[in-house]
Amino acid sequence: MGYSRESYLKAKAILDRKRLESEKALEQRRAILFGRSPEARELERKIARTSINAARAVYNGKDVKTELENLRKQNLATQKRLDDIIAGFKFPANYLERWYECEKCQDTGYANDRMCICMKNLIRDFEYERINNSSSLSLRDFDTFLLEYYEEDYRETMDKILDYCKKYANDFSVSSPSILMMGDSGLGKTHLSLAIAKSAVDKGYGVIYVSAPIVCRKMENERFNQSIDDTERSLAECDLLIFDDLGTEFMTSFVMSTLYTIINKRLITSKPTIISTNFNGDEIRQYYDQRIASRILGSYKRMYFKGSDIRLKQALESYSNSNKEV
Ligand SMILES: [Zn+2]
Repeated sequence: MGYSRESYLKAKAILDRKRLESEKALEQRRAILFGRSPEARELERKIARTSINAARAVYNGKDVKTELENLRKQNLATQKRLDDIIAGFKFPANYLERWYECEKCQDTGYANDRMCICMKNLIRDFEYERINNSSSLSLRDFDTFLLEYYEEDYRETMDKILDYCKKYANDFSVSSPSILMMGDSGLGKTHLSLAIAKSAVDKGYGVIYVSAPIVCRKMENERFNQSIDDTERSLAECDLLIFDDLGTEFMTSFVMSTLYTIINKRLITSKPTIISTNFNGDEIRQYYDQRIASRILGSYKRMYFKGSDIRLKQALESYSNSNKEV
């Protein structure tokens, strides 16, 4: 499935605009040159007429070979004169050519029938932006996940979790297992799921990151204007779905059945999902109906985050560091 259509269209729009801008810029350069040298305009016209003259020579049935050779020589001489004029004004040699930002694909986004790296990078950046907009934190890296913030008793557990997540991100594919991250707030569940998300996006996978209360509210609203299928479908079909803060959504029978449909569809099609929740296993069983609880607890790789609030420690530390600098 890969990147979202939305990001693809945004990237395409940027490239379309770049091509239009390079065309406009060329027109401006031509206007400047021809304003200074009417001869240059004449020479350009002459060159443009060459192909018409060549066609005419063929049509008139003259000695085509000689005619074409003459035209070629004339053309070279005209081009040389035009180049000299351009050089005379100290303009670059490619002054009358289109200047592309990406020469490889000439800002079309495709080269040799394949998507160009410039377009891939644009789409990836839009995917980053999309995830950052729907998350309370921005996309993270693993190397900013610091084990020293955890008490010694929990460090070994957290080290194992970090290792697992790094390997998971490294080997990520559309058939990777699903993960259930459990533990109190502020222990790094969101950090690690965002680090996995970043790595999956870098590999070209389509990642959807949603906060459970926000997306459930959205689906409830959409239910009344009958566009619910779109959200439900994209959550069920994306390459990696990250469901943050499960258990904080406002539960209705509609939300319950939609959550079940999404979780179940993804399990049937073996698509990976990462769920993070403050609940433990018992609480999941109590809060959700048995069909959801059994699927999450039975099929996901379970992780128990341990420690006391790391965000608080990080905040205190950055506060004391900023005080030191002053
Ligand atoms: Zn390109």
